[in-house]
Amino acid sequence: MSRPRPRLHGRQMKSTIARLESKIALVLRVTELFHSIQGESTHAGRPCTFIRLTGCPMRCTWCDSEYTFTGGDHFSIDAIVEQVRGFGSSLVEVTGGEPLAQREAFDLIKRLCDESYEVLIETGGYVSTELVDARARIILDVKCPASGEAERNHWPNLERLRGNQDEVKFVVVDRVDWDFAREIIEKYQLEKRAKAVLISPAWGQIDLQELADWIVQSGLEVRMQLQLHKYIWGPDVHGV
Ligand code: SF4
Repeated sequence: MSRPRPRLHGRQMKSTIARLESKIALVLRVTELFHSIQGESTHAGRPCTFIRLTGCPMRCTWCDSEYTFTGGDHFSIDAIVEQVRGFGSSLVEVTGGEPLAQREAFDLIKRLCDESYEVLIETGGYVSTELVDARARIILDVKCPASGEAERNHWPNLERLRGNQDEVKFVVVDRVDWDFAREIIEKYQLEKRAKAVLISPAWGQIDLQELADWIVQSGLEVRMQLQLHKYIWGPDVHGV
């Protein structure tokens, strides 16, 4: 005859569940993990380890990361951190896809910060940044009209930007996008609110000199940025 199992009650039950949860390895879907040169933002040119997480709920018309939408391999946070350690870089960027779309990404970011890495989060601006570890530096996209996803910008993210460490980026395709970017920069006072306001021309879709002229004429304290990695390795090469 089998013995009846002891029943757990109240606090005992909660602590057992907590113990079990702590033993379950947190796993993320990763498209690629590599060491290269940071190509965008004020960190451009610095050696950096990239963790490119799989999946994105958005579908920007000019997206250059469609290969991240599906697939990927499962890695525990321990396994990711071990690989990051192996590259030996103090700068780590968590990107995607949309890196914040996986719930476990918040734990990964905290772990990287705990291990004293300088952590950049490049997010598409759809998911709230509220629960991102405060030590991480946010590079927040604001989607302009030509992306087809401007309706999905999560505006409270702009109010959370911190002037000493976060950056905000507009990918611009045409004059409509530039006018939209200007309006948002002024409305949310982004020149004061963010460490940098980045204006990024969509690759091969806008005349660079024309965009430069608009920026100069605007008198705004923004920074035109080119995607350095695409000039070095070409626009279609992944994992660099
Ligand atoms: S948010 Fe980024 S990854 Fe997602 S569709 Fe837009 S550009 Fe692509």
